[in-house]
Amino acid sequence: MTASLGACKGLLLIIQSDDMNIPDYNLLPISQKDFCCYCGKLIDIPKERTVEHLIPVSRGGNNHHYNKRTCCKKCNSLRGNHSLLVFIEILKTLYAVSMNPVEKYELEIMIMNAEYWQDYVNTAEDKLLRSKVNHK
Ligand SMILES: [Zn+2]
Repeated sequence: MTASLGACKGLLLIIQSDDMNIPDYNLLPISQKDFCCYCGKLIDIPKERTVEHLIPVSRGGNNHHYNKRTCCKKCNSLRGNHSLLVFIEILKTLYAVSMNPVEKYELEIMIMNAEYWQDYVNTAEDKLLRSKVNHK
């Protein structure tokens, strides 16, 4: 894990430079929105750039920027509609069966980033869910 930790550190540090608990993604410089939230790769082709909902809308996630991240098409379709926890398990399974060192390396980065976002979801879940109707 050491190698990918080093390689991925830059991206994580960029994201964490905001308030760690509630990073306001819209306040990040535009260039930082050009990186996939999972594989960390630069998405320099606009049509490859998708919006990822950390909690999928179909699972109660809202459209607030707290819940949205930039994601490459490949990672977005790999996650599909799964919860982050299931996505992490899928990535770990792919890692376990992969014989390709480059693919394993990329999967390590994706697992680490997905776990980072899972931690974020755990701490900021109320900001990511559609608000419950609460008339006072
Ligand atoms: Zn990606």
